[in-house]
Amino acid sequence: MQIADNIAVSIHYTLTNDDGEVLDSSIDDDALVYLHGEGNIISGLEQALNGKVVGDKFKVRLDAEDAYGELVEDRVQVIPRSMFEGIDELEVGMQFQADVSEGPGAVTIIKIDGDNVTIDGNHPLAGQALTFDVEVVDVRAATEEELDHGHVHGEGCHH
Ligand code: ZN
Repeated sequence: MQIADNIAVSIHYTLTNDDGEVLDSSIDDDALVYLHGEGNIISGLEQALNGKVVGDKFKVRLDAEDAYGELVEDRVQVIPRSMFEGIDELEVGMQFQADVSEGPGAVTIIKIDGDNVTIDGNHPLAGQALTFDVEVVDVRAATEEELDHGHVHGEGCHH
């Protein structure tokens, strides 16, 4: 069976940047299972998986725009500390859910200077070309219910 829309796909992957640093990997963990064709994984990787079969191994390098997007300067903002009401200690690296211009998203504190807190709403992997080293470990037809929901069910499922 080839990977196509409405197929539940399991892959193992290792994600590296252009410096060869490993950013993420499923190898010592459960395989990533996703419903193909629904935009549940980044688009460039989903495209590269089209037509693949179990046992296929490949590497794909995605430019930032095909991965987590370019860095957008407008998403870096300086806001007053008082905006973080109820949080006693702010630290660089803390992440918050916030309403940004594109809707709710994660922002990260990247600098604290007195009462000025600099937050970054870019995805932590934005602005980087990423290489995925992928092995397809399972391919099956999705169930009706999975197609209805637009995602796979099984272990770790939210139901
Ligand atoms: Zn569901």
